[in-house]
Amino acid sequence: MIYWSPSECMDPEARLGYQSELLRKQVKYAYENVPMYKKKFDEKGLKPEDIKGLEDLKHVPFTVKDDFRENYPFGIFAVPMDRIVRFHASSGTTGKPVVVGYTENDLEMWAECMARTLAAGGVTKDDIVQVTYGYGLFTGGFGAHGGSQKIGSATIPMSSGNTKKQVMIMQDFGATALCCTPSYCLQIIETAASMGIDPKTLPVKKCFLGAEPWTEAMRKEIESRFDVKAYNIFGLTEVLGPGVSFDCKYQNGMHINEDFFYPEIIDPNTLEPLPDGEIGELVFTALTKEGVPVLRYRTKDITSIIKEPCPCGRTGRRMDRILGRSDDMLIIRGVNVFPNQIEEILINIEGVEPTYQIIIDRENSVSDNFEIMVEVSENVLTDEIKAMENLKNRILSEIHSVIGLHPKIRLVEPFTIERSAGKARRVIDKRELYTR
Ligand code: ADP
Ligand code: ZN
Repeated sequence: MIYWSPSECMDPEARLGYQSELLRKQVKYAYENVPMYKKKFDEKGLKPEDIKGLEDLKHVPFTVKDDFRENYPFGIFAVPMDRIVRFHASSGTTGKPVVVGYTENDLEMWAECMARTLAAGGVTKDDIVQVTYGYGLFTGGFGAHGGSQKIGSATIPMSSGNTKKQVMIMQDFGATALCCTPSYCLQIIETAASMGIDPKTLPVKKCFLGAEPWTEAMRKEIESRFDVKAYNIFGLTEVLGPGVSFDCKYQNGMHINEDFFYPEIIDPNTLEPLPDGEIGELVFTALTKEGVPVLRYRTKDITSIIKEPCPCGRTGRRMDRILGRSDDMLIIRGVNVFPNQIEEILINIEGVEPTYQIIIDRENSVSDNFEIMVEVSENVLTDEIKAMENLKNRILSEIHSVIGLHPKIRLVEPFTIERSAGKARRVIDKRELYTR
């Protein structure tokens, strides 16, 4: 089967009409059922009827993460509790988490989105799908589970952690598909190797990786070490969870489930919509959600929309890889740096393992200490000091040529950097301590 649903290939013109109609209804629904939206519209002197279609979307006020926090826990819910059948929440490292509630229809739509995601990578009911995203309030586990169940594949609800057991079950149950974060996928590969198992001999053939930024270089690394196809999948709690967009076999940008989510790219400074192809902040309007409607949600994720048609035949516009979150962008000695830029460089250097951590500190009030901790391969460790020095200098010069800064490079043994079963912690920014 190539597509999960015919609506993935809907005529683009017809889709615009369909989206306009859904938008009209959704704006009215949000206005009438969520006081926060009513307030935002009233303050602008805007009536739901003013939004006649997509052409008027630009007038709709934005929604941001703080709106969720200020309305914690259920203030943005549009239905009474008897219609809510599930809660989820985003990790929210600081402050209150973002809480969302789903109706029966929302869960059905979510499963549909995730079924499309898995099917696009070739999952059928013959597959055995190991779900290694965390189950719980985090959307990853249950999200992937819903899609796998809808397809009718045999689902292994592993949740995250206990990596040796993950490898054992994978081998013993014959898992053919794996869903987890890219950094955890790498950890599974490393762990298998440390157990004396060649990762390439494991039965997994397709991986559905997301929930954190990663690079093309990382994709190639995972694909070759694991002998799999690694598909990028994207989503966020406020909008749905995983399943908002997904790679097809061409792996050339993630198709957005446009019949449910209308994307925009805005200039994060002027807040004006940008044309397809330009880089900016991704904004989503959920067109059908009942539990927690979201209008023009600012994701803080930086990317662009690819409008060229994809050879696979799906007509949902594609979004490019996430360059980073605007709040993950580091400003080091006045230079803007995304962790992904560092990843891309490191992975392409021979002798370096794909696990790294960026540490920024400020000893005096003038300049930032910028250090990159890099794990080196076992064979490099046994080399002479001279070879280690050369490697260090090579890393330094490549980083300097791309970002123009001279970080301190600390080469460490494999497994020195703490691993995470979920989202990797790539940056430790100690400067916050001084600004508080
Ligand atoms: P939290 O905000 O606590 O991290 P979520 O699980 O909702 O909680 O995270 C959603 C975010 O994860 C997205 O906004 C995006 O920044 C990131 N993300 C999800 N999938 C991808 C992906 N495929 N590539 C890059 N970043 C991703
Ligand atoms: Zn495609």
